[in-house]
Amino acid sequence: DDSRILTMEVTRFGQDEALVIVRDVTRLHNLEQMRRDFVANVSHELRTPLTVIAGYLETLQMSGQAPRNWERPLTQMSEQTVRMTGLVNDLLLLARLETSERDTGRDRVSVRQLMEQVAGEARSLSGGRHEITVECIEDCTITGTAGELHSAFANLAFNAVKYSPDGGPIELRWRLDAAGGHFSVKDCGIGIDPVHIPRLTERFYRVDAGRSRESGGTGLGLAIVKHVLLRHGANLTVSSVPGRGSTFTLNFPTHKLTLASSA
Ligand code: ADP
Repeated sequence: DDSRILTMEVTRFGQDEALVIVRDVTRLHNLEQMRRDFVANVSHELRTPLTVIAGYLETLQMSGQAPRNWERPLTQMSEQTVRMTGLVNDLLLLARLETSERDTGRDRVSVRQLMEQVAGEARSLSGGRHEITVECIEDCTITGTAGELHSAFANLAFNAVKYSPDGGPIELRWRLDAAGGHFSVKDCGIGIDPVHIPRLTERFYRVDAGRSRESGGTGLGLAIVKHVLLRHGANLTVSSVPGRGSTFTLNFPTHKLTLASSA
């Protein structure tokens, strides 16, 4: 198959002159495809060995036959296995999100139910250190893929917990206006310096790698959020004040929404 992929860029000069630049990006496109396939294959292949390791570790811990003084190392091995499993799952999810077609999800997801579910999960992650509230006055359903929407909402809520180490309130809000529906998560945590904001959704980008790792982060959460949003015609806005806290907002266009009261 020798079909080519071209991009065209047109710049007009006055009435009847234009500069047209055509680029052949076939090679670039193929390389991207190879990278994605490679990551997806490696992630998939890592799952089986990880399951075996996690299984035997658990058996050993439960058996009471672990060598003396091995409790701490064994606990650490389990924790790191859980972490690596999370990383591998996130990589696989990201590879799938990048390759599958957009706008194909047909689930009707209740925003209020999703927010309550995510708030519950965030509360258990928080272990009572934060006061997590939900405000959803006008419930809607979003048309899309339920699992992906859950990942996007949950990632923001979990980040709010992870990056407000001193606790404090976390507000999950849903609001409608002429432009569409907006889901926001507001925390009173460490905040983000504005220079970092444009890069937050890059894979493995972290403001502070040490802190992220400590809190169990993989650096893939916001990359996943971005790709879920792309596939739902939505976008992300971030506002933050270092030392005071952040607000992350998912903006959904009106055509993806149905008012729950009209159902
Ligand atoms: P991670 O797994 O490291 O949390 P993410 O992709 O979810 O990865 O986030 C990328 C980086 O953005 C984080 O490492 C952190 O530095 C920053 N970040 C994300 N959410 C918040 C937040 N609510 N408050 C402060 N920093 C945040």
